[in-house]
Amino acid sequence: MTNIKTNIIGLSRDEIKSKLIESDLIKSDESFRVKQIWHWLYFHGVTSIDDMTSISAQLREELKKVFSLQRPNLDKEQHSVDGTKKWLIKLSDGNLVETVYIPEDNRGTLCVSSQVGCTLNCKFCHTGTQKLVRNLTTEEIVSQLMIARDQLKDWPANENRKISNIVFMGMGEPLYNYDAVKKSVQIFSDPEGIKLSTKRITLSTSGIVPQILEWGNEVDTVLAISLHATNDDLRNEIVPINKKYPLQKLIQACRDYPRSRNSRRITFEYVMLKGVNDSLADAQALVDLIEGIPAKINLIPFNPWPNSPYECSSNNQIKKFGDFINDAGYSSPVRKTRGQDIMAACGQLKSDSIKVKKSLRRLEI
Ligand code: SF4
Repeated sequence: MTNIKTNIIGLSRDEIKSKLIESDLIKSDESFRVKQIWHWLYFHGVTSIDDMTSISAQLREELKKVFSLQRPNLDKEQHSVDGTKKWLIKLSDGNLVETVYIPEDNRGTLCVSSQVGCTLNCKFCHTGTQKLVRNLTTEEIVSQLMIARDQLKDWPANENRKISNIVFMGMGEPLYNYDAVKKSVQIFSDPEGIKLSTKRITLSTSGIVPQILEWGNEVDTVLAISLHATNDDLRNEIVPINKKYPLQKLIQACRDYPRSRNSRRITFEYVMLKGVNDSLADAQALVDLIEGIPAKINLIPFNPWPNSPYECSSNNQIKKFGDFINDAGYSSPVRKTRGQDIMAACGQLKSDSIKVKKSLRRLEI
């Protein structure tokens, strides 16, 4: 009989414990074993059970019969001239996802994906042109961080780590993969493993209103809203999920967001599209729309991709827009474009899975 091993990456502590008890490897009062395994896995980042050296050799042999700790394969690594790195990760079913690391002076941010492709078709976003293939599992989400840390030699997870922040801004709408993303956040922020403060984890949503409130009640991360327009007509076009959850409902959800306060402001992301949403009248409408919400606005210069339908606003217009919002009392940093030469900038991610399949089909004809 084939013994199918359970991949330990992505399991909660309780799940690891249950599996150990069920396999007769520990008694129910031996929680310290779970703690040991967890520490090796998520603090030291070991890639082999043999490396868990504080566990007896005999138990390690038994553990190897039950668990694997295999990461998905790294298909490709690309380096930008500005230090940004993009990893194309091949999942066990052959699908591909992208993960991006953006180093800055005093921090490093990992942009992780939550789905293969996306259903939402935001018009400024390259991922939106790729059909949704499926949700990622917790294992696949957490593995993106494990692989990034492996590649950056960023283990153990100490205070001087290269990856200090995680943003769910890669491929996919994270609130459409609620449970797996929530469990990943719990693993990322566990104080005995990767131990990232939840202040350093950002969930970015295009505006799935019912889940925004649920998330705020259950999980403590920074919330970012992919806003980009201040009236329904324009937002219906740029972020089509707006037809289902129009601005009034979205902004009300932000007002009701349980964790919104001055020390934990909601970030509104606003992509700067030339002649579309970048006038000072738009800036005034934005200020009026979010009035009273503890917020900051991230202005994102549009990053084009092949056949993209928009142009980026001029630097001058972005500055005027930002100054207007700033004068109204909102912090409005302009996000630096990073990794554009490797198509790793905001809104540019798209894995090759569909394209590859098409070219294979051509070859088959
Ligand atoms: S911006 Fe986010 S939600 Fe919209 S299409 Fe792109 S990946 Fe999907």
